[in-house]
Amino acid sequence: MSETTSSASVRDGGHSPLQGTYPAKAYSAQSATSGLAASSIQRRNPRPQDIQIEILYCGICHSDLHQVGNEWEGAAPTVYPCVPGHEIVGRVVKAGSAVKKFKEGDLSAVGCMVGSCGVCASCSEGLEQYCEQFPVLTYNGEDKVLGGVTYGGYSESIVVDEAFALRVPNELDPAATAPLVCAGITTYSPLRHWNVLKGQKVGVVGLGGLGHMALKFANAFGAHVVLFTTSRNKTEDALRLGAHEVVLSKNEAEMRKHAGSFDFILDTASADHDCNAYLNLLKRDGTLTLVGAPSHPMSVPAFGLIMGRRQLAGSLIGGIRETQETLNFCAENGITADIELIRIQQINEAYERLRKGDVKYRFVIDMASLK
Ligand code: NAP
Ligand code: ZN
Repeated sequence: MSETTSSASVRDGGHSPLQGTYPAKAYSAQSATSGLAASSIQRRNPRPQDIQIEILYCGICHSDLHQVGNEWEGAAPTVYPCVPGHEIVGRVVKAGSAVKKFKEGDLSAVGCMVGSCGVCASCSEGLEQYCEQFPVLTYNGEDKVLGGVTYGGYSESIVVDEAFALRVPNELDPAATAPLVCAGITTYSPLRHWNVLKGQKVGVVGLGGLGHMALKFANAFGAHVVLFTTSRNKTEDALRLGAHEVVLSKNEAEMRKHAGSFDFILDTASADHDCNAYLNLLKRDGTLTLVGAPSHPMSVPAFGLIMGRRQLAGSLIGGIRETQETLNFCAENGITADIELIRIQQINEAYERLRKGDVKYRFVIDMASLK
């Protein structure tokens, strides 16, 4: 990466003067149907509170597919070119003068957010993902410093405010850690929020990136864990990953056996499906929490909720403090993601496989292949 300082000095809302930008190699989509290809983007030179990270690994989340394909057009339209990637692990190569948490050479991770207002009620509680001004997303967000859109981790380099960077515990394998800052926290946070405890019966819908982390965490928290899958051939893996039982969700008789028995179900499915089938499996006062984000609205029959005072909820990633807690919990309990490491040149093929649910259980890009 050759570093140049552009002549233009960019200003951060009048706060800290920026000494220009530098070019970084990246993979971007030019349109919803173009696929991803090599390109060059500009990154800001680090401000005093920023760290510059040489990206070593970046996970591929199903959200990347949704976003690149503009599948969330109504809620979050895609700005092209789009550089996805919000499961980033890399090495700090520069630390600004005010940086406290990191020094050059440290490993660091960046998840789905790179900024938030910092003063609203949610930010004050460490719930930056629910920032009332909307958090700055790692990609396809509003770049408040350079202007334009933010670019994610399918790149050799990123610059972030250290407040949005996580420390990577030494015990963790860096490649298998990348998915923890999206797939990990997105499942850890609701399992904690709804207080999943030893002895409870917990369901996980879908065995993909999020689902396999949910099995690991729910098992580690002591629950009796049941996976609902559309893929019978994932049964053995599910049992190895932490499920105690596996149910083929298309099989009505298998589903009926579990009616009214769950304390909590976490739904990670990425495609349209019938959530009522899962509401009926909840006990009185049980909760079905959606983390999967299919593009079309769901139909929810009132009786599925009324009968048994059941709750239907949602959950978005997790705050920075809880993401660090997730990484620390993983280090203490020997948990990482099960990954397939790919070269960035295989990205379009990986997207095709992910679309078909054919991944074990997270693709991670080895960014050395971008050099
Ligand atoms: P993934 O690895 O592709 O896994 C999704 C799984 O959903 C598939 O492996 C499949 O599991 C299941 N599935 C697919 N089609 C289905 C269908 N028609 N009916 C039922 N199940 C189906 O995706 P991911 O990266 O884990 O992401 C999952 C979803 O969560 C995506 O929509 C993503 O955008 C969203 N997400 C949300 C947040 C958040 O903060 N809430 C954060 C990250 C991602 P089986 O083969 O086992 O059925
Ligand atoms: Zn994600």
